[in-house]
Amino acid sequence: MPNSLIYPEVDFLKPLFASVETMSGVGPTTARLLQNLGCTTIQDLLWHLPQEVQIRRFSPAIKFSCPNELITLQVRVISHSVLRKQKGRLTPYRVICSDSEDSIELVFFNPNLRYLKNALVVGSEVIISGRFEVYKGRFQMTHPDHIGPLTTRDFWEGAEPVYSLTQGIHQKSLQKIIKSALGECPQLPEWLSSNILKKYHWPSWREALQKLHSPSQEGDLSLEHPYRRRLAYDEILSNQLSLILTRCQAETSQGHTLIGDGQLQQNVLKTLPFSLTQDQVQALEEIQRDMASSSRMVRLLQGDVGSGKTIVAFLCMLRAVEAGYQVALLAPTEILARQHYKTMEDWARIAKIKLGLLISKDTAKQRQKIYHSLAEGDINIVVGTHALIQPEVQFKNLGFIVIDEQHRFGVEQRLNLAEKGTNIDILSMTATPIPRTLMLTVFGDLTSSYLRQKPSNRKDIITTILPLTRLNEIMMSLKRALQKGDKVYWVCPLIEESESLDLAAAEERFAILQTLFPEQVGLIHGRLKSHEREATMQAFIEGSIKVLVATTVIEVGVHVEDASVIIIEHAERFGLAQLHQLRGRIGRGSQESYCLLLYSDPLNPTARARLNVMRSTTDGFKIAEEDLRLRGGGEVFGIKQSGMPSFKFFDPIAHQDLLLQAHDNAQAILSKDPHLLGPQGQALRILLRLFEREQTFKYIKAA
Ligand code: ADP
Ligand code: MG
Repeated sequence: MPNSLIYPEVDFLKPLFASVETMSGVGPTTARLLQNLGCTTIQDLLWHLPQEVQIRRFSPAIKFSCPNELITLQVRVISHSVLRKQKGRLTPYRVICSDSEDSIELVFFNPNLRYLKNALVVGSEVIISGRFEVYKGRFQMTHPDHIGPLTTRDFWEGAEPVYSLTQGIHQKSLQKIIKSALGECPQLPEWLSSNILKKYHWPSWREALQKLHSPSQEGDLSLEHPYRRRLAYDEILSNQLSLILTRCQAETSQGHTLIGDGQLQQNVLKTLPFSLTQDQVQALEEIQRDMASSSRMVRLLQGDVGSGKTIVAFLCMLRAVEAGYQVALLAPTEILARQHYKTMEDWARIAKIKLGLLISKDTAKQRQKIYHSLAEGDINIVVGTHALIQPEVQFKNLGFIVIDEQHRFGVEQRLNLAEKGTNIDILSMTATPIPRTLMLTVFGDLTSSYLRQKPSNRKDIITTILPLTRLNEIMMSLKRALQKGDKVYWVCPLIEESESLDLAAAEERFAILQTLFPEQVGLIHGRLKSHEREATMQAFIEGSIKVLVATTVIEVGVHVEDASVIIIEHAERFGLAQLHQLRGRIGRGSQESYCLLLYSDPLNPTARARLNVMRSTTDGFKIAEEDLRLRGGGEVFGIKQSGMPSFKFFDPIAHQDLLLQAHDNAQAILSKDPHLLGPQGQALRILLRLFEREQTFKYIKAA
């Protein structure tokens, strides 16, 4: 009886999902401005939390005000200045006001005279509010926030939220808009149990929001405050519910029993120039055990860059092929897809199976050919990008999929691929070092296999941190390295998220290096056509180019075994996860490798500490943990860039305890009420909607 729902969740949420324009006083112009703040619905406005609190005091007399203080005064208007020009420019316009003892000047630049004459009638008493200044011994207030009749006094006293703004919207108007949005906020059925509410002294969802928007002191906005924690908990609970639901859906369904005779695997293993590490052997066993079982596999293979995930995944793919199924490997970028294809090409030839590559840039004709071979079952393993997800792609009998860097794909995309067969076994791989605390928010407690050891033939990478001012010396060592025959990556950073500036910097560096080392330098960046990029990469691999200048496009997956030096300019601008990925481009062969992190002075203490982490360890997990620990109040830089989910209220450090609590709680809830049909379950559906876990919805709806 899935449809006997008490709460039609959509109706409840209608007011929240309404456009900001439905509010009185918000027209198309304001709506456009609000959009710049990321606010298109009432809910967005409610979620635009204040950044600080401002306290405004009513000061009984001018002399009792302090410099720089935000105050409200009752004064009498004495006189208006005359508009004068000085050196061709208008001088500021002044209105002198006073109380019984002192006087204060209101200062206006580019005044609206008609307005001021009306609002500040000489001889009248008014309320003014703004920042109190002392300038050359005189009291003044520049552009008061408020000028009004005596009746307005009470509105201009007390604490007020301060929001981040966008050009064209004033603090006061945003405060007003958000206040009226709060008026639209419905009381939703409580989805948290009374136990939890009591345990943490939490208010209702609506009250928490209301309180956060009307803080009375700085502490009210802290991450530790119950109001904030309540919302953080809601968010992370919906995240955990959604992960568990998705996973249960996958795991409870029947899977294929993928058992092979091991022949294909043996053929490949025999010819490998190395033997598998202990971790690889173990991961292989774990994965194959899941594949062989009759329930569906959903497993994660975790291993740092260069730990050798590809061969493990490939051997598993062979197992599926032995069992008579087709396999798809989904990669997040074209470069990575090509890379995988290239790596597996030799192995596939040895195993005598057919490997295909499918990317969006293929011509229609090429694509048609692949579609055909996939539908006919001629291709055993296909590697591809999002192109694999397209509806035209049909398989004869897809039985196993491998998803590389799963967090770069949406749930939807992953499902679309999985729906191209029935009950497909899924192996995800990740090289993104995710702090353990965040792991749970990204993958839930997905069963994992780990590759912790690096293949034993690897030498360590020596990391050095140097200021950019020593560029001359660096060029000298570069020269020596090139004479020795080293291959070098030179990475130029993203400059303020602007692709064109970014490119300019890389091109400039390329030009300089080109004059120093003629004919030995290549440049790749995101704007090049893929065949140009390929050609340059090929030249680098073959060695006709020795220095490869690149923007961060080389970050993912590029594999040139004998590249042994990487120089990263403005390393301080990169996230640690990203630096780690970049550094993983070297140290792939058996020669000693060097990583130079160049920074521009002055380096703040946090930035220095971050670079020191890079110098002291090459362990991705350690780096990720440290990154999380060291970051300031802002974003986890590397994580944001690597496509991790970002949270509105939940803070992975401050709210760690809540994550664990939410995880346990979500499990308990779903074990009692797997389809969220009981009263609390139905309230939780509202929560899931609120945080737009739409996809999850499909499961509980289908249930
Ligand atoms: P990952 O995908 O985990 O970043 P790869 O699978 O690309 O790493 O492996 C990096 C390189 O190490 C490849 O050239 C691969 O052939 C090689 N490799 C994998 N396993 C071993 C091993 N056990 N011993 C030596 N080299 C290995
Ligand atoms: Mg199975």
